[in-house]
Amino acid sequence: MNVLLVYAHPEPRSLNGSLRNFAVRRLEDAGHIVEVSDLYAMKWKAPLDADDSTKRSVDTPFNPSLDSKHAFENGLQTRDIALEQDKLRWADTLILQFPLWWFSMPAILKGWVERVYAYGFAYGVGEHSDARWGDRYGEGTLAGKRAMLIVTAGGWASHYGPRGINGPMDDILFPIQHGILYYPGFDVLPPFVIYRTSRIDEASFSTICESLGERLDKLSQTAPIPFRPQNAGAYDIPELTLRADVSPDRTGFAVHVASD
Ligand SMILES: Cc1cc2nc3c(=O)[nH]c(=O)nc-3n(C[C@H](O)[C@H](O)[C@H](O)COP(=O)(O)OP(=O)(O)OC[C@H]3O[C@@H](n4cnc5c(N)ncnc54)[C@H](O)[C@@H]3O)c2cc1C
Repeated sequence: MNVLLVYAHPEPRSLNGSLRNFAVRRLEDAGHIVEVSDLYAMKWKAPLDADDSTKRSVDTPFNPSLDSKHAFENGLQTRDIALEQDKLRWADTLILQFPLWWFSMPAILKGWVERVYAYGFAYGVGEHSDARWGDRYGEGTLAGKRAMLIVTAGGWASHYGPRGINGPMDDILFPIQHGILYYPGFDVLPPFVIYRTSRIDEASFSTICESLGERLDKLSQTAPIPFRPQNAGAYDIPELTLRADVSPDRTGFAVHVASD
């Protein structure tokens, strides 16, 4: 299997750096081909702006979506963006690895998503009609591929529990797992989350590696989170709300995960 690991930590000698090295070794030992996009080492340009096209007219105002579409369709994207899109096409599985910073991904990784997920590549794909609302949420360019998060967090697991003060981790990761990964088509595997990172020592590090290793060994067999596909009948179109008879008493992020 081809695995793309997009990694966002500025320090190779960090916990994340050690986990990245472990993950790459484990995957390669199992016979997978691994490509790492080490965003800090690559000095990845995070801001999406007019420089993302190699040729644009200065007479028209920069439009983040339409300029992205034009560059994507006409081979005018900068090389860094096009290369990452090629890696995504090549990969069978995408892993995003990052420390939880302010309840989300580090800005450099958000910038990778914003720039690499071009209009026509990750969104604006497929036809809109009375029965379909584009190819997204389970369909799209990246359908058939798997994705998984590896996340480290300073907070305790209980802080992220169902009644924890930070909010449930599933909710915090929902915009990434549902919005960034499921949207362009990935099947999203349950995340691998490491809590209370400041307490990690040699003994707990080896326990963590053991469970991460087991997850990596089962990448192709693990059941994805059963997010509801957009165009399969559960949602009214064009309102894109869940049909009144589907989980009628539930709301919130969790309602978009099939419970039956
Ligand atoms: C800007 C910012 C925002 C943040 N926001 C949040 C937030 O919203 N929610 C939250 O929960 N946390 C937050 N944090 C905390 C952050 O999530 C953690 O600091 C981070 O996940 C730790 O990962 P690291 O790779 O930087 O760990 P490191 O600091 O590198 O290491 C953590 C521990 O692991 C040990 N370790 C590292 N490598 C090894 C090894 N090979 N063997 C054994 N032990 C090892 C280290 O000794 C250290 O004790 C934030 C931090 C920052 C800087």
